[in-house]
Amino acid sequence: MNCKKCGSPLGPNDYYCGVCGEKVEKEGEAVVTEPVMKNNTALTLGIIGLILGSVVLGILAIVFSKKPNASNAKTAKILGIFAIVRAVIGVFYAIFVLPGMIEDIRAQLEVGSIIINYLLAF
Ligand SMILES: [Zn+2]
Repeated sequence: MNCKKCGSPLGPNDYYCGVCGEKVEKEGEAVVTEPVMKNNTALTLGIIGLILGSVVLGILAIVFSKKPNASNAKTAKILGIFAIVRAVIGVFYAIFVLPGMIEDIRAQLEVGSIIINYLLAF
């Protein structure tokens, strides 16, 4: 084996070329690449955002899912979208449905109290 930089012959146990000092790359030795740390932030934000129905967490989940090291980026993005949709439905529900339901319950209680008063009169 020869140095790939200067071509000098290398010994089998040489780690550096004795002539030019170039680092010897052993054949068949796997090139060690830094394992990319997968980041669960986007996914976590998406799940919590969906549970809480939070627009902010949903948007954050989508933002973090765009980071190159985000794990399950697609899932995180979908969860983020669902979190926002759920929050919007929650607001819609609170504004339009809940007051009607409260009104219904109040009306039923009124009818109930009228009946009870009627029964107590006897
Ligand atoms: Zn060399």
